Amino acid sequence: MTTTGRVVFVGAGPGQADLITLRGAERLRAADVVLFDSLADTALRLLAPTARWIDVGKRGFTGVQHAGPDARENAGQDAINALLVKHASQGRCVVRLKGGDPSVFGRLEEELEALACAGIACEVVPGVTAALAAAASMQRPLTRRGTGRSVALTTAMTSDVGLGAGRHADTESFYMAGKQLAALSRRLVEGGWPDATPALVVSRAGWPDEIATEHSIATLGDATVLHSGRPTIVTVGIGATAVAGRTAEALRATDADPSAASAARPCISASTP
Ligand code: SAH
Repeated sequence: MTTTGRVVFVGAGPGQADLITLRGAERLRAADVVLFDSLADTALRLLAPTARWIDVGKRGFTGVQHAGPDARENAGQDAINALLVKHASQGRCVVRLKGGDPSVFGRLEEELEALACAGIACEVVPGVTAALAAAASMQRPLTRRGTGRSVALTTAMTSDVGLGAGRHADTESFYMAGKQLAALSRRLVEGGWPDATPALVVSRAGWPDEIATEHSIATLGDATVLHSGRPTIVTVGIGATAVAGRTAEALRATDADPSAASAARPCISASTP
């Protein structure tokens, strides 16, 4: 057994394949094995057509087996760690492809630890995290001069106490809250945000079927049905407000222009403010 293998964690970005970085694409081209999540765009496979692609996405965590020869290799985090170690220990160049950025709610800590224990070299290539993709496609900067000096990336879900939310920054982006928007609304008010604070809900940010809706914190629950079953980012605070002249309507008008650079099609339906 050789020990020249390595693992490169690559952020795939939030959506379409062209949001991966050039470095990430280069590492994919050099991969022998790619372990990927369910969020990654399957078009990325074209960058590494001869590599062995193994799906270790969420379905594996619930015990539902995937079709195909690698079905038995889908399992929980321990099994993913073991796969990374196994393939790298056999001298392969392994890419661990993660949705968004590997360092944001991506279980990177566990996987880096497992590889450190096994003495395997690693590299982390950043990607566009979902909160940034939502801000970009809605043209709503997360920081604003004078009024938006801090941004928090927060998961609403915690394994021990359930849903939690407070007020930690001028703009707060919530991950993994899509199924509990009404509860998030209540927690945010309890956490000190005024009822009328702007809240922007964007699901499948960066994809052609992206949906975005505008709310106040008090009416966040109204977004539940529309975004149901889709990966969703909730942006709260100053970063959720429209820039002057770049309202939802103005964005829709730009979107109708075939020369518009963005492939995304924001579809805004405002709920009661
Ligand atoms: N590492 C990823 C986050 C993984 S956690 C990143 O950096 O983006 C999974 C959560 O990310 C989802 O529950 C959702 O809240 C968010 N998410 C991922 N992709 C998304 C997308 N395209 N649009 C909106 N939210 C997304």
